[in-house]
Amino acid sequence: MKQVTLLGATGSIGLSTLDVIARHPDQFSVFALTANTQVERLYQQCRAYQPEYAVMVDPQAAEQLQQKLQQAALDTRVLAGIDGLIQVASDKRTDYVMAAIVGAAGLQPTLAAARAGKRVLLANKEALVMSGRLFMDAIKENQAELLPIDSEHNAIFQCIPGRLAGNVKELGVRRILLTGSGGPFRQTPLSQLGAVTPEQAVAHPNWDMGRKISVDSATMMNKGLELIEACWLFDAVPDFIQIVVHPQSVVHSMVEYNDGSVLAQLGQPDMRTPIAHAMAWPARMDSGVDRLDLFDVAHLDFERPDYERFPCLQLAEHAARQSGTAPTILNAANEVAVQAFLDNGLGFTGIADVVKSVLNVMSSRDASDLDTILADDEQARQYAHEYIHQAHTRVK
Ligand code: NAD
Ligand code: MG
Repeated sequence: MKQVTLLGATGSIGLSTLDVIARHPDQFSVFALTANTQVERLYQQCRAYQPEYAVMVDPQAAEQLQQKLQQAALDTRVLAGIDGLIQVASDKRTDYVMAAIVGAAGLQPTLAAARAGKRVLLANKEALVMSGRLFMDAIKENQAELLPIDSEHNAIFQCIPGRLAGNVKELGVRRILLTGSGGPFRQTPLSQLGAVTPEQAVAHPNWDMGRKISVDSATMMNKGLELIEACWLFDAVPDFIQIVVHPQSVVHSMVEYNDGSVLAQLGQPDMRTPIAHAMAWPARMDSGVDRLDLFDVAHLDFERPDYERFPCLQLAEHAARQSGTAPTILNAANEVAVQAFLDNGLGFTGIADVVKSVLNVMSSRDASDLDTILADDEQARQYAHEYIHQAHTRVK
């Protein structure tokens, strides 16, 4: 029986993970559930899964949850704050840690899971993007297992049989083909992009996801972050990875070998497949996902990425080449810009402008320790806020 800590239980990946766990009560038991502020949803999850611990980052929310659990005579213990997240991610009694917090907020608990030698199921790509080498070293030094949940990276992993992270060139891999749908604005006239709304941006054609990653998919910054993620997971350089726009989201990525073979992983766009794959690995188990009906799909299309439409792709590729804290800076500026866009405080095309300007004012430095990473993350956020504020004043 594997004990699972689920960081970000109330989100889109959190819900899919609980759905998979519920199908296999003989194999998995929930050790801890965490959320930021959503008391009612976490309370309902505690009732259903009876974890040892529940963590709310917000202390007031933690108090409310505590009261509700007491009234229901449930003995789940409640912790608060980031210390609570770190505690449940590294507890001796937990085997698997699903990292499904969105954004940089997930870094410290995910890193704690790596340092405690857990099987880390990584959905929270921002954590790896911002800490790269430090994170991969923590995995290696503590004999942790890193399994990708991001559908593309999970697909790549499935096309490289039998190996966790490591240099794929040694296995005869010539190229990684990282697919992405192109999001909701793949064909929107460029002149209209400046005026698209948050509601339009979060309406992804194929995937049902949290708001932040949905906006990242619309700018294709998501693919840029995934390029950086893939470089770390598969010990590859950016030039080794070709981004391929594939609007149907059926081929989740491909691996090209030096004999000319190209292996692909296909499936429904449903995150329960990569979640079940990574939880059961190296075995397989039912995920609840519908079969893929190829007669229904009928066509698979592939296009080159359009860098004019998606300037975030180029910014991410540039940061990937620079390495050091450049990806940390890119990620932090993007998080602030996306939030401002979702709050109607920045136009859609402003997201790339913010990221570009922050990358221009800061210089990348060696990212070998956590303090440096957190300092550059913080500094980039400040610059991003300033830029957005100034842009506002200019408009007024
Ligand atoms: P979401 O917004 O639906 O859920 C986010 C979760 O994180 C919630 O449980 C929330 O309580 C928690 N959270 C938010 N802010 C927090 C904070 N400051 N501190 C602690 N917890 C906090 O997001 P999601 O779509 O589930 O995505 C989660 C992660 O998985 C992201 O990094 C995303 O890029 C990645 N991912 C998601 C999908 C998908 O299909 N949703 C696919 C691939 C990768
Ligand atoms: Mg993905």
